[in-house]
Amino acid sequence: MGINEETPLYKALFDAAADGIIIINSRGVIQSFSPAAEALFGYRKDEVIGKNISVLMPKKDADQHDGYLSNYLLTGKGSVIGKGREVTAMKKNGQLFHMHLSVGRAETPGGEVSFVGICHDLSQYKKVVQQLERVDIRYRNLFDSEGLFIVRLQLDGAIILSNRSFTQQFLENRTSGDNFLDSVAEPSKNEARLLLSLSHYGLSDEVKVSLMMENTACHTEVEWWFKLIKDDHGHHVQGVGIDVSEKVLAANEAFFLKNFDPVTKLPQFNYVQHLFEQHQVDDEVSKDTRFCFMVFELIDFDRIRMLNGEVLADNTLEELARSLEDHIDYLYCCRIKASRFLLIVEMSDLETRRVQVEQKFAELQAELRRTVGDISSEIRIGTACYKVDRDTFGDVTEQALMALTFSHQHAVFSSSYNESIHAAAMRKKGLQKVLIDALKHNEIDVHFQPKVDLKTRRLVGYEALMRWHTEEYEYISPLEIIETAQELNLLFELDKCVIHKALSIVQDYPLLFTAQTPVAINISARNFAFKCIIDELISGIHRRSLDPASIEVEVTEDALLTIGDQVKANGKVLRNAGINICLDDFGTGYSALSYLGKLSLDNLKIDRSFVNEFTHKSGRLMLEAIVSIAKSFHLTVTAEGIETPAQQDFLASIGCDYGQGFYYSKAIPAQNLSQWIETYHQDIGYS
Ligand code: C2E
Ligand code: CA
Ligand code: CA
Repeated sequence: MGINEETPLYKALFDAAADGIIIINSRGVIQSFSPAAEALFGYRKDEVIGKNISVLMPKKDADQHDGYLSNYLLTGKGSVIGKGREVTAMKKNGQLFHMHLSVGRAETPGGEVSFVGICHDLSQYKKVVQQLERVDIRYRNLFDSEGLFIVRLQLDGAIILSNRSFTQQFLENRTSGDNFLDSVAEPSKNEARLLLSLSHYGLSDEVKVSLMMENTACHTEVEWWFKLIKDDHGHHVQGVGIDVSEKVLAANEAFFLKNFDPVTKLPQFNYVQHLFEQHQVDDEVSKDTRFCFMVFELIDFDRIRMLNGEVLADNTLEELARSLEDHIDYLYCCRIKASRFLLIVEMSDLETRRVQVEQKFAELQAELRRTVGDISSEIRIGTACYKVDRDTFGDVTEQALMALTFSHQHAVFSSSYNESIHAAAMRKKGLQKVLIDALKHNEIDVHFQPKVDLKTRRLVGYEALMRWHTEEYEYISPLEIIETAQELNLLFELDKCVIHKALSIVQDYPLLFTAQTPVAINISARNFAFKCIIDELISGIHRRSLDPASIEVEVTEDALLTIGDQVKANGKVLRNAGINICLDDFGTGYSALSYLGKLSLDNLKIDRSFVNEFTHKSGRLMLEAIVSIAKSFHLTVTAEGIETPAQQDFLASIGCDYGQGFYYSKAIPAQNLSQWIETYHQDIGYS
């Protein structure tokens, strides 16, 4: 044996070494096999001692090993001796593994040569290396991924390193130097400079910042995370950025859609409120400051829309908004709805701004006349004062709107909010509420005003007129009811309610309301074009088994203004159902006589404004003319508003068939009609 393995030191070293130690003789036969070698190769030492070392090698190496060994012994040249190298070894179970092998040569004084192999297991190491390689590939993929920018900068912004994306997007084709700041667009430059200067003092954490970057072609919004890196090479700033241009674009678009009016491009009402309130806080506006809220709108914008279509109407509004912006020095402006705008100006500027708005509308009006041939597009204005420490945005807008309503109702150009406007608006609101209730509960009543034959004086029928008494507002005139219903878009419900009330009363008093003394029910001009209102009437008559001849319909001239197919068809349906039609308020509208022949009319009613004119010669001539027109169309004529015997006699003398007015009776409840008839018949000597 070449090495004295019996010495205690040798034994301790041999047993304790973490790497496997194998000793072979010059023929390659294993002499010693340390415990660590046993663990590494899975052999017990008695299994391998005496065997050739090649049992621990893969077949390829095993076949050649004896050759290597004898060559070394012959020439003294060997690739392993005295050097370490990585080899593949084989465990007892045949599994191959990497190990680091260092071989030393020992020689006894007797000249016997042995080789000592130190075997270091590399399996774990190899695994880690492979893992590192995978991480490296992943890191490199990440490093070069598109849309992700990575830079390493000197503290003055000089670029030490940048990934492919950053280089391609911001460094290629660049004329200036390689400083990060050169790639930052002007609006973000200061922020980037500040960040770099802060890095001199050490950025404690990662700092996130959005910068607008630029190259020669375009701008890119990049969200950056910057971090100060300290290593052996000194202090650097590392930046990782993501291209968020599309996100920013989408966010901007969403912001625009939420806060701006797509038609006028002005801020939305809610956004103006936010800006206005913010302005007072941010700019510490003095408590005494006053602003004027000015609401204005085009009357008849609906007509412009109808005549020219949505697109042109919207263009008109856009044009107007631009013109206001260009020429009027307002604080805020927005569109509330349709052609209704809100302008907020300094109180002291009110008159100037009002004149400017007026001027803009005059220009718009001229433009509309020129381009679309519109006849008029007047505006109405309502204003209210906002005092900083007293009012809220919502309240003052409401007040300006009340003033605007007042301007509309009184056909005045401009009104300022005051107590009486407030009272009128409150009444309107209250009235709207009670009207809704009244319609729900069928509380609108119907009274009947008699009509008489002007020749014989005998009763020939009635006009049904709506009557409404409320606890809070007492008597409300039909005109105010109609106006309120119109505001609530409930005109159809109102007519329906009156129709059913009138028909029920007719059913309750079959002796009063007959084919000889029919009841004329008024139908709003607007509703007359709807088939469903006519159906409502006819089905109501059938349901109550009434004689259709005991019912007539009064409709005003303007219903026939746009004499469309539906109006004509409705006239025919009524006529076929045996219901007479009376044209109300004749002469007050556009008086296009042509329609008289087009609709199946029976009776023409002269408006009481003409009867009032009876005292003047021209008035009398007018009455005569109307009667003769009616006759030429073979229509009977009724005059309403007769208050004196002279009016009655004159109308009778010119051939007017029937009369109605306070001279005979006001509209009275059905239950009082018998009493009235009795008295009336006595008066005229009819028995
Ligand atoms: P109208 O259809 O022209 O009704 C005639 C109006 O003249 C009624 O006013 C009536 O009370 C009034 N009147 C009748 N004789 C005289 C008179 O000798 N002197 C004066 N000064 N006035 C007289 P009322 O009831 O206030 O109705 C006003 C308008 O309201 C009606 O005008 C009609 O357009 C509408 N209206 C009334 N009731 C109804 C209804 O039930 N349905 C619909 N759709 N409209 C109605
Ligand atoms: Ca009428
Ligand atoms: Ca009338």
